[in-house]
Amino acid sequence: MTIQDHPSFAAQFQRLFIWAWLIDTGLFAGSLYSLKHHYMMLGWTLAVGFGVFTVFILGYGYYQLFNITCPNCGGLTTTQKDNAQQIWIAKCKHCNVAWNLKIGTKRID
Ligand SMILES: [Zn+2]
Repeated sequence: MTIQDHPSFAAQFQRLFIWAWLIDTGLFAGSLYSLKHHYMMLGWTLAVGFGVFTVFILGYGYYQLFNITCPNCGGLTTTQKDNAQQIWIAKCKHCNVAWNLKIGTKRID
């Protein structure tokens, strides 16, 4: 099995989390601002929205991570963390390729 860099996953995944972070920060800040200015209904709605959105985005990110299609054949891969190299890889049995998702904590050169 050969290791290749996945062409698009890291960029998509990072974009998702940048947007999620911006929305989450906005909800949190809006909630604090509203509560401070005694808009209780709005403040608590935003606070609940913050909690729900955080759970949703973690679930969605998890789903994305474990449902990666192979860039070569379009088949579903098996996602694993390679503990030795501290990287996430998606294995395609059909192509015999391990896609390096490039979202690990360590870079391999
Ligand atoms: Zn494949």
